[in-house]
Amino acid sequence: MSRVLVLNSGSSSVKYRLFDGASTVAKGLIERIGEQGGDAPDHRAALQRIMDELDLDDLAAVGHRVVHGGPAFTTATLIDDDVVAQIEAVVPLAPLHNPAALSGIAVARKLLPSVPQVAVFDTAFHATIPPEGVTWAIDASLAQRWQIRRYGFHGTSHAYVSRRTAALLGRPVDDTNVITLHLGNGASACAVAGGRSVATTMGLSPQGGLVMGTRSGDVDPTVVFHLHRVAGLPIDEIENSLTRHAGLLGLTGENDLRAVLHRRAAGDPAATLAFDVYCRRIREYVGAYLAVLGRVDAITFTAGVGENAPAVRAASLGGLESLGIVLDPALNAANEERISSDDSRIAVCVVPTDEELEIADQARGALGQ
Ligand code: ADP
Repeated sequence: MSRVLVLNSGSSSVKYRLFDGASTVAKGLIERIGEQGGDAPDHRAALQRIMDELDLDDLAAVGHRVVHGGPAFTTATLIDDDVVAQIEAVVPLAPLHNPAALSGIAVARKLLPSVPQVAVFDTAFHATIPPEGVTWAIDASLAQRWQIRRYGFHGTSHAYVSRRTAALLGRPVDDTNVITLHLGNGASACAVAGGRSVATTMGLSPQGGLVMGTRSGDVDPTVVFHLHRVAGLPIDEIENSLTRHAGLLGLTGENDLRAVLHRRAAGDPAATLAFDVYCRRIREYVGAYLAVLGRVDAITFTAGVGENAPAVRAASLGGLESLGIVLDPALNAANEERISSDDSRIAVCVVPTDEELEIADQARGALGQ
């Protein structure tokens, strides 16, 4: 019983991957669910199709990616009715993400009633951040009542990549401090001390922190009041603008960094500014997390941008020799596993993330396997 099916249910798609141990037996994506000409009319049909296509004998578990675990979930958790109710209870914290995961869970429980189902939360890895790292200085009674605090996301990726980095350095995980930079469509940084998250950039939702493909990352909250009061935009429109029409897209009209790099190379000023804003924000958080951690063994880049964009890595970490960070331009240009020079006190690494593998491992872990 070593097979684990990992399901990542989004609002209009389901990504799946079937593992046997650490190897992938099958994987795929059902897209544009519910849309005309899409792959399936609803989540139930999508999951039914996945189950029909796969050989699911001998399945030890189904691992479900759940974006938001709220304050309750600090680890991967075996799903029962009570767990489903608790995931439902945090839907207001993740209205775009949790309902899709819930429909995936409901259908999978119905179609595979005898297989244990495990929820693996993007937030759980950050449960170890100390109170001063998750508390905002707002009215404490409001924060308490409405569960307003930093939760952090991309936890499975930061967990996986920080562990892989320790292995790469040949160091024990519990004595390795890493700053992980997950730069994909969404982007976040994490300070990991001895295998535990102690700081991260995303907050109540996956909106804060670094500049992303279409999300703004950090802005002064007054921007929202100003857009409402002075520009007259309704609150939903402001949210839509800051989450779907901001970030690289907001600055350039392109959400894909490759397109921004292309235009920057041709001398486009908006693309040049967007690139500089993007890298400057990464640099600011690297500085912050150097100070949070005190001693840092490695800085690791991952995800689409982190794994493939030497220009971003160079612009984010260049000129930091006095802090012990020395990039090797040739290794960086070749996207090597280790891109720092031998005399760099802090190793700089490029480690491909594998969130599905981490979810499968955590699902097994939750079953004590
Ligand atoms: P997601 O967060 O959706 O999982 P990825 O981690 O795959 O996304 O990252 C997607 C982003 O990675 C793309 O939008 C693109 O900007 C960037 N990317 C992918 N390949 C390259 C590349 N060769 N050079 C620069 N950026 C890249």
